[in-house]
Amino acid sequence: MLKLGSHVSMKGDDMLLGSVEEALHYGANAFMVYTGAPQNTKRKPIDRLRIDEAHARLQEAGIAKADVVIHAPYIINLANADEKKRAFAVEFLIEEVKRSDAIGAKDIVLHPGNHLQDSLEKAVERIAQSLDEVLAATRGQSVRIALETMSGKGTEVGRRFEELAAIIAKTRQADRLSVCFDTCHVHDAGYDVKDDFSGVMREFDRVIGRERLAVFHVNDSKNPRGANKDRHENVGRGHIGFEALASIVHDEDYEDIPKILETPYVTADANAKKRVFPPYKEEIAMLKERRFDPAFLDRIRKNPSRRKG
Ligand code: FE
Ligand code: FE
Ligand code: ZN
Repeated sequence: MLKLGSHVSMKGDDMLLGSVEEALHYGANAFMVYTGAPQNTKRKPIDRLRIDEAHARLQEAGIAKADVVIHAPYIINLANADEKKRAFAVEFLIEEVKRSDAIGAKDIVLHPGNHLQDSLEKAVERIAQSLDEVLAATRGQSVRIALETMSGKGTEVGRRFEELAAIIAKTRQADRLSVCFDTCHVHDAGYDVKDDFSGVMREFDRVIGRERLAVFHVNDSKNPRGANKDRHENVGRGHIGFEALASIVHDEDYEDIPKILETPYVTADANAKKRVFPPYKEEIAMLKERRFDPAFLDRIRKNPSRRKG
């Protein structure tokens, strides 16, 4: 069965229960959440996340807990040469793994890190060491940390499959590491996701191993292949295009892998700056049916009841 959804919010009093409702509203049967704001590390205690009620709702809807994906905040940097900052990132990630376990997620997606002014080799070492610390502190839990393929913006680690493979090879508990494949990032990193997805996946299998693949992030890209930019675009509106993304979503070899949209919210008109309409209901429907509607953004804009934020 196709597992398709988007990232949804987890906030207010409803927390995970609200996330499930939002995902169902989009017609999704998988989804991803940050356990709080992605740009900070303020988090609520586990007993206030409304996990039991969310699980009941998931069961009612026939969605497996394992198809809920967690994303760690993108500000933590396991590669930081500043020992205090790295230690903070490790401590925070330990708590995130515990939250993910309580939620019942199989994987928590993590941006491997940024090497900043240091070498890539040293960054890879520190990321592996940090992951070992996190995995040792959460021994016995089954949640895996899914290293995300990155676009190569700035000093990001994880632009090449080899970089993720090197991190995995250096850790002692590699059985709890997996990989999240972001179509926009891999395209921006230079791989030919658009015209040679199967070739890219053969390379992924050769370098990392197919069995590590845990999640797809399905995003179009605002930039040409190899641009190292990391700017997501709505499906069918970017340099990857609808056909390529739809065939990834429907590829039978990856049927069991949750596919998560992280495409941008839509603005009120073409010139507005503030993005207020989530595109996920339309994008999920188009991908499911494998039929692109070039007017979908305008359709979303003309329906103000869909406004959010
Ligand atoms: Fe990410
Ligand atoms: Fe992503
Ligand atoms: Zn991105």
